[in-house]
Order: sequence, then C-alpha cells, then structure tokens
Amino acid sequence: MVVTMAWATWLHSFSLSPILLPDLSRHTFGAFNRLSSTISSASLWNRKKPYVLAVRAQARRGFSPLEDEVASRDVLHFEAPLTIVEYPDPILRAKNKRIDTFDDNLKKLVDEMFDVMYKTDGIGLSAPQVGINVQLMVFNPVGERGEGEEIVLVNPRVNKYSKKTLLYNEGCLSFPGIYADVERPETVKIDARDINGARFMVNFSGLPARVFQHEFDHLQGILFFDRMSVQVLDSIRTELQALETKYEEKTGLPSPEKFEARKQKKVATGFGKPKALVQPSTQ
Ligand SMILES: [Zn+2]
Repeated sequence: MVVTMAWATWLHSFSLSPILLPDLSRHTFGAFNRLSSTISSASLWNRKKPYVLAVRAQARRGFSPLEDEVASRDVLHFEAPLTIVEYPDPILRAKNKRIDTFDDNLKKLVDEMFDVMYKTDGIGLSAPQVGINVQLMVFNPVGERGEGEEIVLVNPRVNKYSKKTLLYNEGCLSFPGIYADVERPETVKIDARDINGARFMVNFSGLPARVFQHEFDHLQGILFFDRMSVQVLDSIRTELQALETKYEEKTGLPSPEKFEARKQKKVATGFGKPKALVQPSTQ
C-alpha cells in the first residue's frame, strides 16, 4: 500500500491495541501513540452497502489454515533485490501458501521486503507483490525506516470485522500512480504468527486496520480495485488499461485479465439471472 498526502487525515485515529503482547514489531521506537495527531476527521465518512458484507463473507471462506498448503523451500526462495510485481501479472492472483518454517531465510525475506517497501514509498507490502506466493505481509504506517512500528504478520487470519465501514483513498505498489476510494471495515481483530512463529492476536483500527486489510486481501488474491464501486472503477479505467497494455508489451502475452471484460461481467451480475432462464436440464 502506498502513502498519499491524504493519509494524514487517518493518523488521528491510529491505534494498535494488542490483546496479547506479541513480538509484533521488529523494532520498537516507543511509538504506539506517536502517530496520534489532531488532524481533522472531516474526510472520513460512513456508508453501508450490502456488497461489503458479501465481500467479507467471500473473504472468510479462505480463512481456515487447514485448507492452505505449506510453502516449500522453493516457494520461499528469492533473490535480492526484490522487485514489485505489477497488475495484471497472474502472480497477484495466485494462491499464497502458508509458512511453517521460521528460519533465517524468512528473516532475510522480511528485511528485503521492508527495503523495497521504503524505497518505493510504501507503507505496506505483501509477499505476492514481490513474486513470493506465501502468506506474509510487512507494514509500517509511518513509511519511514527508523520511525513508527515495523509490523510483520505471518499466516494472518481475520477473526472479526467491525460493522462500521469507512471509505478511503488507497494506493497500491502493484498499481503505480493509481489512487481511488475503497470501502472497508473500520476495525479488525486478527491472529497471526510473528517472525519467530509465535501465535498472537491483535486489534487494528485506523490506518493500521486499513493497511492490514489491503495487504490481507493480497494474500487472498484480491486486489484493491475488486472492492471499488462501478463508478470509482470507471474513474481509473484509463490507468488500469494502460497497465494491461504495459504488461502485454513487456511480456508479449495477452493480459490475463481485462478491465473491459470485468466491467461487462459486473453489469451482468448486477442485473442477476432472470428466473425464467433457469430451466431444469432435459438431457
Ligand atoms: Zn496493494
């Protein structure tokens, strides 16, 4: 996820409330409340829409770690420096495997992910975005090395979302230059493993909740524009199509997904299937 100027408006609501005290941050700078600021919340507003609930239910289906395959050594192999995978690369839609080896290789991967995140002005990054299809995310809502909290979550799962949702302008390192509004629950209760494999639970709200949910989506193969309204999606049509063209030119392959195809599908499902067309098979 990427820092925007408008992010400042989020910082007033920053809070990180551990239920258990995990080894959540690699480095603590005494900054749990550092981000608390007095900036206005005028840009935050609520909307409730049925599709948010539907998307939540959809995301929940992937929660059981029992269903997830464990990542092999090969899957976790990487070479530095890491580079950001951009839309529409199919890596971003591939299944992400569970991590069960908490070794030096994992620590090096986390270090490299923070490196590339800071270099690209990100505040959050998921492993599939650097081409490693495993359930790992790193983030630092401050986005500056040596400031704030560096948070590492391995095999995260969501236990509870708040009913209250917020609309906010998001950016994504896999969609350079694209910013648009996404509606998400305001707070989230999760559990995960830390870099050493210890399990913990934590509540996120404010900016950390927003960054977590954006990165958690990546781990489910969900991209931020999947959650945008049709109107918002329309506003970034040109940029998405430019990325599709860039991918085709770079790889010589057809784009694995197309904005146009998606739009048609959305309209079709929006109207629903007329009951009269659902006939019992006669074959
Ligand atoms: Zn992203």
